[in-house]
Amino acid sequence: MHLQGVNVLVVDDNIFQRNILVEMLRSFGCKNITEANNGFEALKITRDPILNNIDLIFSDLRMPGMDGMEFLRLLSSEAHNIQIVVLSMMDKKMLSAVNKLTSLYPIQLIGTFQKPITLQMLNEILVKREKVLADTPTLRGIQNFNFTLVEILEGIRQKQFKPFFQPKVDLKSGRIVGAEALARWIHPQHGVVTPYAFIPVLEQAEQIDTLTFLILEESAVACRVLHDQNHLVDISVNLSMVSLGHSHIADKITSIVTSAGADTKYITLEITESATMTDVPIVLENLARLYMNGFTLSIDDYGTGFSNLQQLTRIAFGELKIDQSFVFGLSYNEATKIMVASNIDMAKKLNIKCVAEGLETLEDWEMLNKMDCDIGQGYLIAKPMAIQYFYDFMDQYRNRRFNPKTAVL
Ligand code: C2E
Ligand code: MG
Ligand code: MG
Repeated sequence: MHLQGVNVLVVDDNIFQRNILVEMLRSFGCKNITEANNGFEALKITRDPILNNIDLIFSDLRMPGMDGMEFLRLLSSEAHNIQIVVLSMMDKKMLSAVNKLTSLYPIQLIGTFQKPITLQMLNEILVKREKVLADTPTLRGIQNFNFTLVEILEGIRQKQFKPFFQPKVDLKSGRIVGAEALARWIHPQHGVVTPYAFIPVLEQAEQIDTLTFLILEESAVACRVLHDQNHLVDISVNLSMVSLGHSHIADKITSIVTSAGADTKYITLEITESATMTDVPIVLENLARLYMNGFTLSIDDYGTGFSNLQQLTRIAFGELKIDQSFVFGLSYNEATKIMVASNIDMAKKLNIKCVAEGLETLEDWEMLNKMDCDIGQGYLIAKPMAIQYFYDFMDQYRNRRFNPKTAVL
């Protein structure tokens, strides 16, 4: 890993910690390092027409003047192609705040890490950065897409949207236990387009159901085909909160799955909480009906946004997905470790399955296993893939367990 030619900005009011990081960065071959005491100074640097070529920022959160959160907010509206690493002492509240913030802004967050930084941590961060960069051509393309509702709906009508499948693995045995269906638009001109370019548009226009039904149907068919081939896996489908506000949605979902010849007990519905919807009676009614009809309900992106303990006990959730922002670098972060461990512990006591998403390293796999987390999903195992590749993947693992130690990334 080397940083030659990379322009780095280190933002921290603590000169001692700043110096340590600067020295470490130099040991990775970094020559162009700029330093700032707080958000104000940092913004001046990123806005400077001559200095304005920063590639990577390490930022503290708590700083006098302008703190890290305000800095990230302002930066995100001006520069999207800078990668950001947050370094902080991070208690749980701070973590959630930063995760919420970064999920709202189009910035490339590499991770949130607890100080003091070590050489090994820095190395991990830089490996992750390479991966983010490798994905960037598509990312950048997608961010520039500005599809209209009409274009998206026409694409759905023409069935250009397909679920891609990402395997879920039992962390103890390495057995493939299921997959999550993730929507992709196979666009005739632009190739594979990921959800951020179309889900928000559809949700805002209250048109998300059309996509949900299409993805659900194809996922249910895949589930049946896999079962016919003797792969007894579960398939997870994402369900928008917006849809849960519509009456009769539960019956419609059930009839799509059964018409496709699949059994609802093998279909998991992943739901991300949102602030406004949690107390609407129709949402609770739909959730209860889906549960009654045999579906497993999963709480997605747990730890960010509005998902909380109360939701878990009030609604019949059978699965909890720990958000990927808490999973990456878990083994290096004491505060995150404590939080994730207590979430797993609580889920166990409530008889709820735990899934860790965004599993990218062997260290994180081992740590999660030690914490008794049930299932892992992430690039360490496989990226989401088109259905024909997923069938091949399953065949490959018919008599074999996934071994994280020999995983090729
Ligand atoms: P999600 O449900 O939390 O899905 C996990 C996301 O993490 C996926 O992004 C997946 O590709 C990505 N991911 C998986 N493993 C790793 C990893 O190791 N590292 C990293 N960095 N990322 C990983 P994707 O496919 O872009 O989907 C984004 C979101 O879009 C999903 O988040 C879900 O909320 C939403 N979405 C996807 N398909 C549908 C759909 O059919 N309907 C609805 N309503 N929402 C969908
Ligand atoms: Mg999901
Ligand atoms: Mg998620």
